[in-house]
Amino acid sequence: MQLTGHNYIAGSTSAEGTETFFSVDPRSKTRADLPFHNATSAEVDRAVDAAVAAFGEIRNYSSERIADFLDEIANQIEALGDNLLHSADRETGLGLPRLTGERARTTGQFRAFGALLREGDYLRPIINSEQPDQPSIRQMQFPVGPVAIFAASNFPFAFAVAGGDTASALAAGCPVVVKAHPGHPATSEMFARAFDAAIAAGGFPAGTFSMLQGAGIDVGQRLVAHDGIEAVGFTGSLRGGRAIYDAAARRPRPIPVFAEMGSVNPVVITGAALEERADEIADGLVASITMGTGQFCTNPGLILLQDGPLAQNFIAAVSEKMSAAPAGVLLNETIARGLQGTVGQTTANPQIEVLTGGAVADSDSFCFSNTVLQTTASAIRADDSLQVEHFGPVTLFVVCEDDADLRATVNALEGNLTSTIHAEADELDDIGDLLHQLREKAGRVIWNGFPTGVAVVHAMQHGGPYPATTAPGTTSVGMNAIYRFMRPIAFQNLPDALLPDALKDGNPLGILRLVDDVYTDGAL
Ligand code: NAP
Repeated sequence: MQLTGHNYIAGSTSAEGTETFFSVDPRSKTRADLPFHNATSAEVDRAVDAAVAAFGEIRNYSSERIADFLDEIANQIEALGDNLLHSADRETGLGLPRLTGERARTTGQFRAFGALLREGDYLRPIINSEQPDQPSIRQMQFPVGPVAIFAASNFPFAFAVAGGDTASALAAGCPVVVKAHPGHPATSEMFARAFDAAIAAGGFPAGTFSMLQGAGIDVGQRLVAHDGIEAVGFTGSLRGGRAIYDAAARRPRPIPVFAEMGSVNPVVITGAALEERADEIADGLVASITMGTGQFCTNPGLILLQDGPLAQNFIAAVSEKMSAAPAGVLLNETIARGLQGTVGQTTANPQIEVLTGGAVADSDSFCFSNTVLQTTASAIRADDSLQVEHFGPVTLFVVCEDDADLRATVNALEGNLTSTIHAEADELDDIGDLLHQLREKAGRVIWNGFPTGVAVVHAMQHGGPYPATTAPGTTSVGMNAIYRFMRPIAFQNLPDALLPDALKDGNPLGILRLVDDVYTDGAL
């Protein structure tokens, strides 16, 4: 496939800007030849205007028609073939096995949303029929309108141009304008082609999908500020997510920002668990910390345990295994610089001990050594900056003096995507409160497992209190992700003929509805 380096705006390519950037192979730091054009303000505006126009049409489409479109997107992604894998591998260094799995997850997400739409219940119809003292009130979920999506660097498929944010926004019935991540622009362009092909096949309006290239914050800032955008989906850094959240709040008409940002994913390990399974836990932790060169938002970055010989042996074993594990390649220069910066800042603190790593492993590639740090519970309670996300193969042990010290430290933790506890069954009576404490700090609580690996299923919650996200009541993975881009609208005393099918007396869609407080798929 011959790539252009252009933006994809409502079915046409466009390269009006003079500022360009290049794709870089992180394994060799070599730059590809094709220049990618930063979108101009006029191009951003055109993409959003086209999305607004498209919304006027697709908000009237049936769930079935949108489901067919989602399936076609999955087909078109598969039709890109293995060139897509090779492109992403060259731009991210993530390796073909990982990318092969991620592609399956990505197409699977589109098909899973298609299945959700065909089932129909996702519209969440609720009907309170007319009573002597109450009007008829009926509500269901509707798409919010055009959505701006910021692709992540660390998942070039599953959280990027064709990632979960895009899939859930399109499933909701919203057109999307995607700001591609500059770390993998060629891969992004391949996805844009797949979207345009699916749009043509499904007869959807061209403005249903646009993709803007850009290195630097201007494109994203312009996009979020545009009055035609109704919501934002973002995955990336706390700094970037917070800046976009603030930009959305500054608009004359603020809009919701669903930003998934930094997380250190605390892991608590009890003495009894160490006594029973120290080796097994150490192996699992090292695999989880180094997976994808540590570039997962669910990476276990903070490990809390009570001091003693068992804990000291465990920390030594983890450090040894981390130092023996091969150092991976980081995604790009920004990530590499970011990691050097955060690790440098943390290790400058006199309360931090470097047990292994802490430095660049190979200056010919973006390679950072597997790193284990150690501090005390009182140090982390005294300085919130020690809870910073080190986005790479890095973890920080927090050694607590006793149980009270541990609980006080868990209490002082910021919001996270996950929290984990390793304990034994006979400790259940003692650790109930601790579990509740950990629950307050995260969107997903893991028992005797590891936080990396996020299943795309209905029950998944991939979110959490700030700073893990800007919207803790929502998830960016799983079927409930669709509700970020829908809103409930209630109709009072509307005649049956004017109601959407999902709310009509006869229930022509045959879907499950909450009618006068009882779930039923029958007619009224
Ligand atoms: P990022 O810097 O947050 O960037 C993500 C996207 O947001 C990019 O398209 C970026 O544009 C845009 N952006 C950033 N700041 C912006 C602003 N002020 N206004 C408008 N747009 C803005 O994330 P990244 O490039 O993927 O990685 C940088 C750091 O983020 C990493 O070192 C890591 O610490 C963290 N990170 C965390 C996660 C996670 O899941 N928790 C995932 C990825 C990265 P440009 O790149 O074009 O400037």
